[in-house]
Amino acid sequence: MVIVGGGFAGIQACRALAQSEVRITLIDKRNFNLFQPLLYQVATGLVASGDIATPLRELVGKQPNVQILLGEVTQLIPAKHQIVFNGKTFSYDHLVLATGSGSSFFGKDD
Ligand SMILES: Cc1cc2nc3c(=O)[nH]c(=O)nc-3n(C[C@H](O)[C@H](O)[C@H](O)COP(=O)(O)OP(=O)(O)OC[C@H]3O[C@@H](n4cnc5c(N)ncnc54)[C@H](O)[C@@H]3O)c2cc1C
Repeated sequence: MVIVGGGFAGIQACRALAQSEVRITLIDKRNFNLFQPLLYQVATGLVASGDIATPLRELVGKQPNVQILLGEVTQLIPAKHQIVFNGKTFSYDHLVLATGSGSSFFGKDD
């Protein structure tokens, strides 16, 4: 199984499958989980940025059925069960997309 995204959802999915007979490849473009709810506190200087960034290996690296890869998934090819990751094609049996969401300022970026 390939899980794209090591945020709340991706980490939870990894942990939920800890006892399953499934090999998991967790892919994220960052090597850390960002605890977004405390971003405001970092921005206002109440919390250090390192305190809300936990390495993915620390969270699930010891789980025997998980390998963690760093890179950005840029293309999905569902018909072939493939993703394009770091410029290379990677096959999967099952795919979990846990890539979060983006912001929209409705064209008013300022
Ligand atoms: C400022 C702020 C405050 C918040 N406060 C709260 C709160 O108080 N309570 C609450 O419940 N929620 C809060 N939220 C919302 C909460 O943080 C999100 O709902 C949650 O983080 C979503 O988790 P996720 O796993 O879906 O996505 P994310 O945590 O965004 O994780 C997505 C992961 O996917 C990775 N990724 C994305 N695209 C790719 C790609 N193409 N290739 C490889 N990796 C990729 C990213 O690097 C990231 O690690 C807050 C959010 C913000 C921004």
